[in-house]
Amino acid sequence: MSNIRAVRGMNDILPDETPHWQHLEQTVSRVLSSYGYGEIRLPLVESTRLFKRSIGEVTDIVEKEMYSFDDRNGDSLTLRPEGTAGCVRAAIQQGLLGVPQRLWYAGPMFRYERPQKGRQRQFHQIGVEAFGVPTPDMDAEIILLSARIWRQLGLVDSVALQLNSIGSSSARQAYRSALVEYLQQREDALDEDSQRRLHSNPLRILDSKNPQTQALLDGAPALADFLDEESRDDFARLRELLDAAGQRYVVNARLVRGLDYYNKTVFEWVTDRLGAQGTVCAGGRYDGLVEQLGGKPTPAVGFAMGMERLVLLLLESAQAVPAGRGVDAYVVAVGEAAQREALAAVEAVRDKLGELVILQHTGAGSFKSQLKKADKSGARVALIWGEDEVANGKVTIKQLRDQAAQVDNPGQQTVPREHLEATLVAAFADRMG
Ligand code: ATP
Ligand code: MG
Repeated sequence: MSNIRAVRGMNDILPDETPHWQHLEQTVSRVLSSYGYGEIRLPLVESTRLFKRSIGEVTDIVEKEMYSFDDRNGDSLTLRPEGTAGCVRAAIQQGLLGVPQRLWYAGPMFRYERPQKGRQRQFHQIGVEAFGVPTPDMDAEIILLSARIWRQLGLVDSVALQLNSIGSSSARQAYRSALVEYLQQREDALDEDSQRRLHSNPLRILDSKNPQTQALLDGAPALADFLDEESRDDFARLRELLDAAGQRYVVNARLVRGLDYYNKTVFEWVTDRLGAQGTVCAGGRYDGLVEQLGGKPTPAVGFAMGMERLVLLLLESAQAVPAGRGVDAYVVAVGEAAQREALAAVEAVRDKLGELVILQHTGAGSFKSQLKKADKSGARVALIWGEDEVANGKVTIKQLRDQAAQVDNPGQQTVPREHLEATLVAAFADRMG
């Protein structure tokens, strides 16, 4: 039988990569709590209807990327392709929306896409959503908090902020007609994807990656000329706020979002260091979605960052992730009596010195082979229980690393078992919090 492998596009994240993920998660969670955002944990599976109704039937996601299936009851369920829909569903269902509400979540999302660097079928997002505030100060807040996250990750020079306003839905409708009219006259010159979108989701053509299509768009009507007055004012106000906060950005008149529910502000943080998958964070305002999903009209703004891309960027930018602690001590015990003695003593050490990383030798093994493993583990010291130690109620602490710099390097010392904790405190004074 051939070995069973992971599903294509769904990756294992191994212990040598997880420190980067943890660093990212901890940084984001720290910044978000400092702005008063609360974490919400949402199901991975929702009714298919939720996504069709919120994301929109003619989007890439709903048309061809969702993992949908009927459960045993015949209900159509979908592995969530993004987090906003579920977050809005929960906020309505749990009655969270009477007052302004700041929420965030993190976790896996699922889209049936062509896997490549920075694009998986199971990927991870951290999402941030702020409900109940219609004014652009809220847009500014979430943009500035995302900028703070990049600063704290050391990525501020790797990413740039792009900004646009896509206006009200009626402004967009008027623009859509003008754009379609312009493009229809040039339909043959469009790439295949854009030809399809011309009839389903023409605004998406604006962010086509095809150079010929992009050139064609140079002469197209501009979205900015179709904006309603309120959207224009709010956009100007947002820019003022960002300017005042010293936040740099570029206005990208062709920035749109692939999902139907956005209006007014849209933004992306992009990098040129990851090839084609350059957007690490994307978001905007979606004032109509809560009502669309059956809640009371509630303005909202949010964003989602792609964690795989951010981890790649951390690696790419050689951003130092705080090193893991590594092994402090390796326990060597030969014979059953020594093992009993060692296990009990080390448990007592763990009670008092919980931050030490202590690897217990497990399984059999001669003194020599255990010591070899101790050395290989990278531990600074070996804690040794041999026959003599057991007989005398002692333990030997052997330095394993080059301690030449240390003035009175004892190399190896045998102390009464009761002195073990104090000896370790001294040996690890530099590493104790
Ligand atoms: P793209 O144009 O790259 O497909 P999108 O518009 O579909 O992005 P959003 O739905 O806005 O993406 O998701 C927000 C962020 O989540 C993206 O900017 C990206 O960083 C990340 N992301 C989206 N899809 C994937 C994926 N399949 N694999 C890895 N990260 C992803
Ligand atoms: Mg996509």
